[in-house]
Amino acid sequence: MTNNAFTICSLFYSILLLIVYFNRERIKTYETTMYSSLIVLNLLNVIFALSTYYIVKYLPNLYFLYYLIPKLLLISYMAFLSVFTLYVIHISFSKKKKKQTEILKKSSKYILMFFLFSMFMILLLRLDYYVDGKIVYTYGPSANVVYILTSLMVVFWLVCIIINYKNIKNKKYYPVFTYIFFIAFVALLQKINPALLLSTSVGTFVIFLMYHTIENPDVKMIKQLEVAKEQAVKANLAKSEFLSNMSHEIRTPLNAVMGFSNGLLDEDIQDSAKSDVKNIIMASENLLELVNGILDISKIEANKLEIIEMPYNFKDMFDELVLLTRARLGEKPLEFKYSYDKNIPEYLYGDVTRLKQVIINLLTNAIKYTKTGYIMFKISGNVKEDKVKLLITVQDSGIGIKKDSIDKLFSKFDRLGVEKETSVEGTGLGLAITKKLVELMHGSISVQSEYGSGSKFTIRVDQNILKGKELEDAKNKKPVQTEQVIDAHGKKVLVVDDNLLNIKVAERLLAKYNVTLECVMSGQECLKKVNEGKYDLILLDDMMPKMTGGETFIKLKEIEGFNTPVVILTANAITGMREKYLSDGFDDYLAKPIEQLELNRVIKKYLS
Ligand code: ADP
Repeated sequence: MTNNAFTICSLFYSILLLIVYFNRERIKTYETTMYSSLIVLNLLNVIFALSTYYIVKYLPNLYFLYYLIPKLLLISYMAFLSVFTLYVIHISFSKKKKKQTEILKKSSKYILMFFLFSMFMILLLRLDYYVDGKIVYTYGPSANVVYILTSLMVVFWLVCIIINYKNIKNKKYYPVFTYIFFIAFVALLQKINPALLLSTSVGTFVIFLMYHTIENPDVKMIKQLEVAKEQAVKANLAKSEFLSNMSHEIRTPLNAVMGFSNGLLDEDIQDSAKSDVKNIIMASENLLELVNGILDISKIEANKLEIIEMPYNFKDMFDELVLLTRARLGEKPLEFKYSYDKNIPEYLYGDVTRLKQVIINLLTNAIKYTKTGYIMFKISGNVKEDKVKLLITVQDSGIGIKKDSIDKLFSKFDRLGVEKETSVEGTGLGLAITKKLVELMHGSISVQSEYGSGSKFTIRVDQNILKGKELEDAKNKKPVQTEQVIDAHGKKVLVVDDNLLNIKVAERLLAKYNVTLECVMSGQECLKKVNEGKYDLILLDDMMPKMTGGETFIKLKEIEGFNTPVVILTANAITGMREKYLSDGFDDYLAKPIEQLELNRVIKKYLS
């Protein structure tokens, strides 16, 4: 084995690495640019090292090459070290992007000066050759300068590592540690046996190590993808936040539109005006449904939507769904068939609000997409220990869904083939929300459909069966009759809302209960009023500037002898909000736009 065997191996490795690396698709960053230069410089090193060996040994007569090539080897070696130093600086200060670019710019300048100085010294100073049989090596002042500058560089890398000792476990430092170790080791070996030409092999080994640890283009791509994914997730969250805020903003004026329109219906107005008002109400209900859908989907995406389970009466829920579907069917010439399994226990435990929401969605779709024929709504149940496995089916004889569209059915904003049917209103959000909600309830949804003849949606979901004390409690809880408007003559109600329109809506909605109404527009005014006199009920808006409803409530509680029921009003009608407000101590919760039935319930509960 000759003493340049390592260098010959390095040549093959370096060429291989160069081919593999540059044939790969790469991302362009500071690090990859530096690494590319290192690969090229390393190959140059190896070529110059081998050329030095053969020229010094066999072609000493070629004076020009005889003097130039060994010096070019030292220069390219210094260039390699300089770029490696830049790399070390980069990985050591890569935390803050802005700072890092500044540091890199400055350090590049110094490193360039350092390199030019070393080049100048190498060219200027004498280089001696030792040739004895197979042993060839260089020494002398020029080589000594390279030794000294290399030692300085190594010390500098160590300083960088010590300054960033917290990052010491960073994978990017592995090649640096290896390089320092090998440089020291090779220096020692060459002291013992100067004929061993190992420095270029060490360089090759280090860049190979870098390739397999941190600089592999695939690894870099994956990292880049991860960053891009993180950014996309963040952007999506910001979008959800925006949508949620917007929904809140839209609900507030919508409260006024619906409130006033409903108020107008109760008045003695012309039939044509009545029909217009009904249209306004219908349009605003559609808008509200849309806003609720957007709110739901944004909450689902932000993982903020929770399933809130509570006891409920299954039969009441079924009846309510049938009533609602009948109302929605209106004049449409459709046969509505419905049935439920009598084995299903009457009292169940689950998220009845969300369960109703998903079923209503399917029923509404069935009505929307069926012109003639029937709609069939069926719930069957399979009781297993303390659970009932509900199988909910909604079938129709409507337009059906094309086979290739079924996959897109549950993705948001996808409306299938109804683009031209402008008469069918919708957003394409319903089924996306339905699927997510069903999954949140640990259930599943499936669809069978034949294009042109109808569809059948099936939901499978488990609900707990209410037993023992909870069952007794649920049975004893009488439902509040909400339809009937009660007379609360003589009762004093205080409405607190910073929005004048909302106050007017409240005045209108409350007028029919004959209450004595007072309205104020801030938390401070509310406190003042309560200190001055007693009220039977306070309707308190939450989102007010300066002092929110929540803050006002805390102050109200501090008033001695204060025991007036406080109902919080909010357009922030996300599921789970009711529970949050109730746990904060509010007596009840009304979502804006205020529904007449809900208001009836509240008035009946606190003022009858
Ligand atoms: P929307 O009804 O608001 O458009 P959905 O998410 O509820 O949104 O439904 C998505 C699409 O699925 C609808 O646009 C419609 O093309 C199709 N679809 C849903 N239900 C039915 C059904 N019962 N019959 C036929 N097509 C349906």
